[in-house]
Amino acid sequence: MSTTVDRAQIEALVRSAIRQAQSGSSQPSPSAPVLSGAPGGEPLGWVNGKPNLRVSISARHCHLTDEHVEILFGRGSVLEPDKDLYQDGFYAAKQTVMVVGPRRRMLPNVRVLGPTRPASQLELAFTDSISLGIDAPVRHSGKIEGTPGCVLVGPAGSVQLDQGVIRAARHVHMNDHDAAFYGVSNGDMMQLVIKSKDCSVIFDDVLVREDKAAKLEVHIDTDEGNACNLDAATEVTIQPMPKPCACGH
Ligand SMILES: [Zn+2]
Repeated sequence: MSTTVDRAQIEALVRSAIRQAQSGSSQPSPSAPVLSGAPGGEPLGWVNGKPNLRVSISARHCHLTDEHVEILFGRGSVLEPDKDLYQDGFYAAKQTVMVVGPRRRMLPNVRVLGPTRPASQLELAFTDSISLGIDAPVRHSGKIEGTPGCVLVGPAGSVQLDQGVIRAARHVHMNDHDAAFYGVSNGDMMQLVIKSKDCSVIFDDVLVREDKAAKLEVHIDTDEGNACNLDAATEVTIQPMPKPCACGH
């Protein structure tokens, strides 16, 4: 998909809006933990001898390259950490960008997450992609070949992304201790069960992303989180995907 926008015109239109937005109200944190616990002398993220499952909503956000940070925010600019995410070393930056899609539809105030990456990427929920007018496919982070692009606008300039707009596939971060506990390994699929008054949801196809430095945490998007009213959830559990019935049904 190609975005046909007059960049100079778009920049003129939205630069002041961005300044206004950045000095005004702030976005909710992209990570909304349901269950929490203090880390002890146990495997990373464990509490009282077992994994401590968190389910967090990843609100729409983007990842940027160093080069794009400088174009959008000015020469010599770097991402400024604002809030640490639950996963060590990752943060929501102070900076936000405006996203412009086809037919000049826009999303203001899209949070930048750090650190920077080798390729810029915009992660949207389905509802976001509908309002922006971009048919974003479900992809795992980093797998952006052949995905649609968009225009990012910052206070110092704009960037045309030829690809990188995705709906991030639901996934669970975990370390090797967590993986052993659940009997799964990197790349497996799990099932997330969320009990919530009048709107419990079972999510299949939750991809295991194993990393020694990770803490057990599911990432779902705002649509998925809203569907089960995650903030009011009474119970969250995760398990390996149930095996298909031996009878073939
Ligand atoms: Zn994640």
